[in-house]
Amino acid sequence: MVAGKCSKCDSMITSINIENIAGKVNGKDAWNCISYNCPRCNTILSIQIDPVALKTDTIDGVVQRLNR
Ligand SMILES: [Zn+2]
Repeated sequence: MVAGKCSKCDSMITSINIENIAGKVNGKDAWNCISYNCPRCNTILSIQIDPVALKTDTIDGVVQRLNR
């Protein structure tokens, strides 16, 4: 099994904590994001736009547009 190390606490990472975090543009909520946190020290290792929320929001937007 391949495992990377946390850049802060140096522990081997075999799983990751995923948490929701608001992505803001000019102080306003714009994107639902998720952060990947070290399960041991909780350091944020990476953040990305939540792909599930992005898909749901896109579908909702398309349906709204079609219903106009
Ligand atoms: Zn860590």
